Amino acid sequence: MNIHEYQAKEVLRSFGVPVPQGFAATTIEEAAEAAGKLPGPVYVVKAQIHAGGRGKGRFKELSTDAKGGVRLAKSFVDIRADAAEMLGNTLVTLQTGPAGKQVNRIYVEEGSEIEKEFYLSLLIDRVTSRVSFVVSTEGGMDIEQVAHDTPEKIVTFSIDPATGIMPHHGRAVAKALRLDGDLAKQAQALVESLYTAFTANDMEMLEINPLIVSKDGKLRCLDAKVGFDSNALARHPDIAALRDETEEDAKEIEASKYDLSYVTLDGNIGCMVNGAGLAMATMDIIKFYGAEPANFLDVGGGATAEKVAAAFKIITADPNVKGILVNIFGGIMRCDVIAEGVVTAVKEVGLKVPLVVRLEGTNVELGKQILKQSGLNVIPADDLDDAAQKIVNSVGGLN
Ligand code: GDP
Ligand code: MN
Repeated sequence: MNIHEYQAKEVLRSFGVPVPQGFAATTIEEAAEAAGKLPGPVYVVKAQIHAGGRGKGRFKELSTDAKGGVRLAKSFVDIRADAAEMLGNTLVTLQTGPAGKQVNRIYVEEGSEIEKEFYLSLLIDRVTSRVSFVVSTEGGMDIEQVAHDTPEKIVTFSIDPATGIMPHHGRAVAKALRLDGDLAKQAQALVESLYTAFTANDMEMLEINPLIVSKDGKLRCLDAKVGFDSNALARHPDIAALRDETEEDAKEIEASKYDLSYVTLDGNIGCMVNGAGLAMATMDIIKFYGAEPANFLDVGGGATAEKVAAAFKIITADPNVKGILVNIFGGIMRCDVIAEGVVTAVKEVGLKVPLVVRLEGTNVELGKQILKQSGLNVIPADDLDDAAQKIVNSVGGLN
C-alpha cells in the first residue's frame, strides 16, 4: 500500500527524521491558511498524487508552458494561483502514464534553500532477504537513469537484522555522499531514524529523492515516497487508515472485496483462471501467441458462483478488454460452479466481446451443458493451446 508524500513525511517526522514543515490542503482557502502557519518567505506547493516525477509533470488542462506539480511560491497570491491551477486538474508525469492523475490535494511546505541534492532509499532486497540502503550523490533526478549511465555513482549495502543498524552504516552513507564533520553526524542520525521508521512500520520501500544539504548546513528530506507491505497492515491500524482508495485501481479494490487475486495489466485479453500457476501459464501462452493479457486473475480454489460472477463483471467492465479467456481446471473448484457464475454475470451485464472457455476436470460435462443451454455465444476450446489461439485470433492478434 502506498501513501501520499504529506502522510509519509508525517510518519517520518514522528521518528525524528528531518522534514520541512508543511500542511495539506484541499481548497485554495486551506492552502492560504497553511501558508499562514509557515515562516516563509519561500513556500513550496506540491501536488499530492501516488506518483513521482511531479516536478517535471504537466497539467492536462493547462498550457504546456505552465509550471508542473511542484512549484516554488513567494507570496500568498502565488500560492492561491498555484492551488487554483492544481486542484481538480490532471497531472501527467512519467509515472502516471498518459491518462495522468487528478490532483485532489496539495501540500504547502516551507521552502528550502538547496546546496546539494542526494538520493537515498531503503528497500527489501529479496536476494539477501535484508533491508538495503541505496545511496547516491546524484539526487533530484531519475535514479534509473543514473543506474544505467553511471552505476558507479550508486552505493548499496544491506543491514543484518540480527545486529540492526550500526554506526558503520551511518559512516558508509556519509562517505558515499562525501559528508564530513557535523553533516556526517546528521547522516548517522538520519540513517538510524529511517531504518527504525522502515522496520517499525513494515515498510516495503522508502525513497527520499532528493535528500538535501540546505544552505544553512542541514540534511533534510524534501521528498518522501513510502510503500508498506500490505500483508502486514493488520499490525498497523494507524498506517492502514492512511489508505487513499481514490488513488488505487477501482477494479483491484472491487476484486479485493471478493477476496480475488486480481492485478490490472496493459493488454486486451481478460483472463479468468483458477490457481496462480495456471493464471501465470495462461498469461504466458497469450503472450506466446502474440497478444497481451489485460489482467492477472486467480478466482481461487473454493470460489462460489457469486465470486465468479463478480470476477467476470470486473473483467467485462474494463474498456480495454476486447476478448475474454476463461481457463478453469476443476479440482476443488467445480466446472459447473464456474459456468453458473459466468452465466449469471452475463445475464446482468451482457457480453460485448468474444468469450473463449476452456473447462477441464470435476463436473466438466455439466459445466459445458450449462454454458450451452444458456444460449451464450461461447467459443469452446479443448485445451490451453487451442484456447489461447482462439482468443488471440478473435481479438485480432496484437493490441
Ligand atoms: P517529484 O518531482 O515528484 O519527485 O517531487 P519532488 O518533491 O522531488 O520535487 C521536485 C524537485 O523540486 C526537487 O527535486 C527539488 O529540486 C525541487 N524542490 C522541492 N522542494 C524544494 C524546495 O523547498 N526548495 C527548492 N529550491 N527546490 C525544491
Ligand atoms: Mn522526488
